[in-house]
Amino acid sequence: MKIIAIGRNYAEHAKELNNPVPTTPVIFMKPDTAVLKDNKPFYHPDFSEDIHHEIEIVLKISKEGKHINEKFAGNYFEEIGLGVDFTARDIQQRHKEKGLPWELAKGFDGSAPISNFIPKANFNDLYNLNFKLDINGEVRQQGNTKDLLFSFERILAFVSRYITLKKGDLIFTGTPEGVGRVNIGDHLEGYIEDVKMLDFYVK
Ligand code: MG
Repeated sequence: MKIIAIGRNYAEHAKELNNPVPTTPVIFMKPDTAVLKDNKPFYHPDFSEDIHHEIEIVLKISKEGKHINEKFAGNYFEEIGLGVDFTARDIQQRHKEKGLPWELAKGFDGSAPISNFIPKANFNDLYNLNFKLDINGEVRQQGNTKDLLFSFERILAFVSRYITLKKGDLIFTGTPEGVGRVNIGDHLEGYIEDVKMLDFYVK
């Protein structure tokens, strides 16, 4: 199983980090050891002073696909969930400045908490989904999939030109604006519409 994540897929988030709005999807990967399930606590690593939350809609790939046609890409995922793309922003910033890869900033253990997955058929419109992250009872990030720069289908078509997608792979589809630091003791709760999908603590 692999995790593929899309960077800068919401324009307002690209702007808040002073990044250009991309013209093709920006992708990176996390190893399977990044996954954190069942609302287990996230243990704040000691190698970063600035771990950021990024709440994201996650797609679960339902069958193998290579060179997926965008028109049929909807056939390659049946369920969606919610995840947090934890990012060591201080490490990422240093690596960006040197033109180095992001793996240490993005792929560390526990950096990909995920919810349970629910059938996409439960939603009327995948491109009008509200999702949000509360920390300690306050809204920190709020997004809607209508603001995606690259649609789910476009992402699958793009990625599968280079990398075969397999059943069970996860696609983190990008975060809206409002990213920020988490601290030990924080209580994170994530929602798609009114359904609570994530509920865990930083330890
Ligand atoms: Mg992200």
